[in-house]
Amino acid sequence: MRKINEECGIFGVIGAEPMPAAGYTASALLALQHRGQEGAGIATFYSDDTLVCHKNVGLVNDIFGDFTRHVPNTHVAVGHVRYSTTGNNTVENTQPIETVHSRLTCALAHNGNITNAAKLRGQMINQGGKVFHTTNDSEIINMLLIEQMIRCGNIEKAVFQVMNILEGAFSLVIATPDKLIAARDKCGFRPLCMGKLGNATVFASESCALDCIGATFVRDVEAGELVSVDLSGKVTSMHQKDTSCRGLCVFELIYIARSDSFIDGMSVYNARLEMGRALFRQRPVEADFVCGVPDSGLDAALGYSLESGIPFVPAFVKNRYMGRSFIQPSQASREHTVNIKLNPLRAQIEGKRIVLVDDSIVRGTTSERMIAPLRHMGVKEVHLRISSPPFKYPCYFGTDIDSTENLIANHMSVDEICKKIGADSLEYLDLDNLRAIGKAHNAPFCTGCFTGQYPIPVVGCGKHTFDDN
Ligand code: AMP
Repeated sequence: MRKINEECGIFGVIGAEPMPAAGYTASALLALQHRGQEGAGIATFYSDDTLVCHKNVGLVNDIFGDFTRHVPNTHVAVGHVRYSTTGNNTVENTQPIETVHSRLTCALAHNGNITNAAKLRGQMINQGGKVFHTTNDSEIINMLLIEQMIRCGNIEKAVFQVMNILEGAFSLVIATPDKLIAARDKCGFRPLCMGKLGNATVFASESCALDCIGATFVRDVEAGELVSVDLSGKVTSMHQKDTSCRGLCVFELIYIARSDSFIDGMSVYNARLEMGRALFRQRPVEADFVCGVPDSGLDAALGYSLESGIPFVPAFVKNRYMGRSFIQPSQASREHTVNIKLNPLRAQIEGKRIVLVDDSIVRGTTSERMIAPLRHMGVKEVHLRISSPPFKYPCYFGTDIDSTENLIANHMSVDEICKKIGADSLEYLDLDNLRAIGKAHNAPFCTGCFTGQYPIPVVGCGKHTFDDN
């Protein structure tokens, strides 16, 4: 059994003049590295329309040095960074996914999770005798695209048809030798934005990737929208009719995205500050300092400090040479990683009462492993504040979480969790306060991981595993 992992970052660029498209893509993927550290890939087209794709497991900086140096200037490129927690760390499952077919030559990069992937895959294998090369649900999109191209011969119509067949979360960039197409599912679960780099057009999961290559932000791709750009820069847009289920994944704002990004008109940084401010208003506490868990809790901690007037100070020194602790495959290695990663700053916090802010508690590993050494170093009181509601339910739309039974809030009350992790008090952000941040921007959220209520039906969709590969 293989587990599928979905949190990813995507990028695409197209322009009339040949340019270092692969180089721009590598730089953009570096800016999106936080969205996926398992593997990465870049695809581009030579002047004779030959599709070249370079992908591997590992980090962006280790994968593309030689490739970007040797690839000539081209008109179009797409790239992908892939996230994983366990297993399946193979080159075959990295993206972009290439298709070379008599009706369609393209490279596709996908962020999200297709909830009817297993069903579609089964149908294709049984009825069409299709052979799949990966355990990746994104390959299904390519197969569907070929089918639709055979039917209608028009790439925009084909992608639009495929958008209607797919269920779940998808932000896509698809490159052909002369077009770049971006598409976002009708709920808008995962972010996707559009920018300009001189006369070239770019698409990226997050606006921080535009900033990093010197592109200017133009707009977000809307939920249910397909945007196609040709070599001359002409933009065509199509919209799906059903807009009733809008719901950006709220975890993008809480944790996944980079603070310097703007998503659907919202500054991720400001949203996190507001979460921290709301946490203080919800349950003020007397303390000497406010501290954030590096890096995920720092912005909300600053918000808490600004609202309360309690000074913001660092509580930990972070070892900058380690990845996110979540990506370690076993509980034992995760716990070990947390210890190496963060060491309390005794000189600052000994004998003090601190408010400690983090973005979320999933299994409870991070909180427990941090509070123990704080106590050990003589911190008098630790009041833990979490800038999201209790994480209780599975996500079917691409936030990589553990199984429900490992979600501590699913089977323990707030008081029980507080006791288990050794805090003096524990407060989670109220769901209404979280939703209010979205309402201020007219951006409804998917909050299914906190409520078990999702914007689209999830009956029958599990975190799919494909056994046949
Ligand atoms: P845990 O230690 O299992 O309670 O996980 C909580 C920590 O994992 C928090 O500090 C978060 O910053 C981080 N985190 C939360 N959600 C995710 C996710 N989907 N992927 C990776 N890390 C996460």
